[in-house]
Amino acid sequence: LNRLSSWLKFRHTKNNSRPCTQRPVKRDLIMKITNIRAHILSSPLETPFAFSQGWVSTRSATLIEVTTDTGLTGWGEAFCQGLETPQIAATATESCFAPMLIGRNPLSTEKHWFDMYNRSRDFGRKGAVMAAISGIDIALWDIAGQAYKQPVWQLLGGAHRRQVEPYATGFYRIKGQGEAERLAEEAQMHAQNGFRYMKVKLGFGVRDDICVMQAIQKAIDPAEITLMVDSNHAYGRSEALYLGQALADMHLRWYEEPVAPEDYEGYADLRRRLPMAIAGGENEHSLYGFNALFEGACVDIAQPDIGSCGGFTAARHITALAQAKGVEINPHVWGSAVAQAASLHLIAALPNTHHSLFARQPILEYDQSSHPFRRELTRHPIQMQDGFVQINDAPGLGIEIRKDTLAHYRIN
Ligand code: MG
Repeated sequence: LNRLSSWLKFRHTKNNSRPCTQRPVKRDLIMKITNIRAHILSSPLETPFAFSQGWVSTRSATLIEVTTDTGLTGWGEAFCQGLETPQIAATATESCFAPMLIGRNPLSTEKHWFDMYNRSRDFGRKGAVMAAISGIDIALWDIAGQAYKQPVWQLLGGAHRRQVEPYATGFYRIKGQGEAERLAEEAQMHAQNGFRYMKVKLGFGVRDDICVMQAIQKAIDPAEITLMVDSNHAYGRSEALYLGQALADMHLRWYEEPVAPEDYEGYADLRRRLPMAIAGGENEHSLYGFNALFEGACVDIAQPDIGSCGGFTAARHITALAQAKGVEINPHVWGSAVAQAASLHLIAALPNTHHSLFARQPILEYDQSSHPFRRELTRHPIQMQDGFVQINDAPGLGIEIRKDTLAHYRIN
């Protein structure tokens, strides 16, 4: 029997012999997607607030959970705008993309991105359908990180930075106009909380906007604090130009969404005529959309949102395009704790567009308005310490979703 066993082993080895350079793929990297689920979260706000496009009375989020046959689970988020209903991206995820991807290997992120984009080209390309693609893509990268046992920023090519300075986004309105004094006090509060950068929401009428900015400028120390403004495309070209000229001496780091996202000529015109950097891109999508923005010489700073630009895969394409065009990338971040975590990995991996010893670094948008899906959704929500937010090195996104929070706010 021993002889027979040795002979059989010899035969087996001979028939299955391979050149020594070829190694089989690790068993734990061969896996299949078993389910893709969209969780719709919603929570009414105690105090509704306004930005230039309308009143926000509910916080919503569309979280994407991708499960595999190996037990690994990835999380992503389809960005839900202030006035958007979260059901749109959830439906696109579950009815259009999930049936296509179930059964496939989640690690083929680039292939899946183009398959999803091509499938939805005739009815997607922008908005909530691209947000659905983004949410799925983020979850696939989360799975990839866990499978390779590396943080996502490592899979993206490595970290240019392991911490990022946050800026305070806030200054929403609770009445509408005539709130300059209250907003100046808010600026002082952000300064006391350690913020050196703040972004002021404008777009409530040019005269009101100028009053607000003058009040804030008086309330802070301009040597310590750098301001940005964001009108959320409230104006046409002439009003946008008038506002920009009125703020020309405030040393703004950027002027965000001065005109509508589709007004490429307006962007380029303002960029030529105003001294401050022009920023935009939170409502632009994919390498194709950003290519148009860059070809039109529209922005100095591009602001893709990881949850709507097309996820990590598209953010990589956009970053390469921006690098070639000399445009800085400073991501837009307004989603839940999942989008915040994903954005931190992206920011870690962003190269400096204009290299120098003291090149300015991307800063993290850190919305200061009330949002239960940021503080309560993950075991370790992001924290500002000594003026910075640290970027974790756990595998994947490095987050642990709190199922109790999910169950509490889920409406589907
Ligand atoms: Mg904005």
